[in-house]
Amino acid sequence: MRIVLLGAPGSGKGTQSQRLVQKLGIPQISSGDLLRAALARGTPLGLQAKAAMDAGRLVDDSIVLGMIRERLSEPDARAGFILDGFPRNLAQAQALKEMLTSLGQPLDAVVQLEVDYRELVPRISGRRSCADCGRVCNVLTAAQACDPAEPCPKTGKPHRLVQRPDDNEATVTERLRVYDEQTRPLVEYYRSRGLLRSIDAQGDPDEVTRRLTAALSPARSLG
Ligand code: AMP
Repeated sequence: MRIVLLGAPGSGKGTQSQRLVQKLGIPQISSGDLLRAALARGTPLGLQAKAAMDAGRLVDDSIVLGMIRERLSEPDARAGFILDGFPRNLAQAQALKEMLTSLGQPLDAVVQLEVDYRELVPRISGRRSCADCGRVCNVLTAAQACDPAEPCPKTGKPHRLVQRPDDNEATVTERLRVYDEQTRPLVEYYRSRGLLRSIDAQGDPDEVTRRLTAALSPARSLG
């Protein structure tokens, strides 16, 4: 299956993508993770992206599209993929369509994760991820509490929890503004192409996973 998860920062795209990876056996392709990895390696493109990321703005399409094109051409993406955080604007959606058309692999579904805006800031400011395995948890919300006793599958030791530098309140406000202005129009874009499914992404993450799986099941039985 080829899926896009669409939703505001903090709507749970990363968490739900990780769960779909387990269920469907296809990779999560997160443009944010690709950018952070490029930055951590100190590549010229990563360093170019840094200022926009720190400010909560979108990184240039040319940088993001290059990374996504490369990632989609890796062998594990042939069986399908979950795009998380990409596309983020109409130009990226158009470019994705062209890329997938040329590969003969059109999208099966786009799922919009709907969350009340008032829930997003606490969700994001409490968010932590393990520096070793990438598992995401939350120190503020009970629904996805970080369990100090849980061992990291990579190291066997407790998770090393870190906070993303752009998960502070000022940057989050800008990221939400950018989402409204540039990414929200994709809801209509995909609706008009018959690809959009919307789910309520609030509450227990297990329940959200069930809604997500149900939303995907018509596309799964087709392909
Ligand atoms: P995320 O991990 O998806 O929240 O992304 C973190 C940051 O990376 C965003 O605030 C942007 O600065 C940048 N970014 C991630 N994905 C994209 C994208 N598709 N287009 C442009 N910038 C992106």
